[in-house]
Amino acid sequence: MSKEKTEGQKLAEELLYTRPHAGEADAALNRAADDFCVGYKAFLDNGKTERDVTSYTVKLLEQAGYVPFVPGTAYAAGAKVYLNNRGKSVIAATIGKKPLAEGVHMNIAHTDAPRLDVKPNPLYESSELALLKTHYYGGVRKYQWVATPLALHGVMYKADGTQVNVCIGEEEGDPVFCITDLLPHLGAEQNERKLSEGIKGEELNIVVGSLPYADKEVKDRVKLLALKLLNEKYGVTERDFITAELEAVPAFKARDVGFDRALIGAYGHDDRVDAYPALVAEMETKLPAYTTVCVLTDKEEIGSEGVTGLNSMYVFHFLQQLCAAAGQDAILCFQHSKCLSADVTAAFDPTFPSAFEAQNSTYVGKGVAISKYTGSRGKGGANDAPAELVSYFTRIFDAAGAAWQIGELGRVDQGGGGTVAKYVASHDIDTMDVGVPVLSMHSPYELVAKIDVYMAYKAFKAFNDCAE
Ligand code: MN
Ligand code: MN
Repeated sequence: MSKEKTEGQKLAEELLYTRPHAGEADAALNRAADDFCVGYKAFLDNGKTERDVTSYTVKLLEQAGYVPFVPGTAYAAGAKVYLNNRGKSVIAATIGKKPLAEGVHMNIAHTDAPRLDVKPNPLYESSELALLKTHYYGGVRKYQWVATPLALHGVMYKADGTQVNVCIGEEEGDPVFCITDLLPHLGAEQNERKLSEGIKGEELNIVVGSLPYADKEVKDRVKLLALKLLNEKYGVTERDFITAELEAVPAFKARDVGFDRALIGAYGHDDRVDAYPALVAEMETKLPAYTTVCVLTDKEEIGSEGVTGLNSMYVFHFLQQLCAAAGQDAILCFQHSKCLSADVTAAFDPTFPSAFEAQNSTYVGKGVAISKYTGSRGKGGANDAPAELVSYFTRIFDAAGAAWQIGELGRVDQGGGGTVAKYVASHDIDTMDVGVPVLSMHSPYELVAKIDVYMAYKAFKAFNDCAE
């Protein structure tokens, strides 16, 4: 029997802002999120690197009827095209009913993730172990990357230019690789180091072999046997490490976490957890009012540099070429476009509350997170989306039942981070940051809530379907 609400309770309901768990209103939402995340976990397991994500994405796009973009072609409304940028980033678009000069709706996420890149001259033998030297990519807490199984992914080019795709450590029965750490019994000296130096950059050396080649006449016999095995599998020599991009990534697969299975633990949620929902929303979009453009980009973790990062012109060249073939003004197109710059944010962690400001934090399970601004030290480097744009997006999310929350990444002056938002806004395109909140962000095993992944999808889809 429900008691009648008091005047104060009614007033509180009317005036106060609250943000409950995103699945609380309807249990069916949690089930829908669980179903949605089956595909997401497969995406994670098939996409440990930006190259892997790109080839898996192209496969999904082709299955969904997308065809390679051909510059100079005037596409009809409803046409679906994709552009594979050098095997490391991909653009997918569905042509809308409105002219391109009225703008496009863009969802952008990144698919590179923090990892350990193999150096150009990596292989050496020391004390009868063969090891690979690495240089970490992106922001990593180095002590988290030792004593954990690693897989090697990437490409090598032979002297004659033949490309070899390398992947070791993912298949059942594959060997894995590992960086060692000291045992506690001998850790006294290392324990005196600051946590940030607990493991130093030049200590991130991966053990790849321990058996000597059976000929005592040669030196570095363990290294030689490792090279012989690599040569047997891939036909490569030591020289071919120079013309290679090999990335060491955690070897484990995505798993449900918790008694209730409501979280997913995996490597590389940042930012495949936004890339996958944006991709699915794009693939499901049919005959939109505005042309929809989904970008899964590279190099965000090192500042969006390089030809496959958002600081390159590749996305804007694509839009310019699309406009040119349609006889539309590209500048008008940019000025009237809107963009969701998707990237993860840090979820409030109850074990480390002092890093956060609780009232302006985002929480796992409360929906996709809006960041009006990112940056650090007085919003430095932030896009800072205008209130008008926050109002536009929150209205369309609300109308579509896409649960959202808003917050900052940590306490003021605690640290901060950047996203691709400013590289889109610099082209005169209205841009707002959104993303799924993550626990243990940038670690080898990050956690996200399934309901937030699903709400991110609903948010991207609402934007694609919006005729406003
Ligand atoms: Mn990110
Ligand atoms: Mn990141």
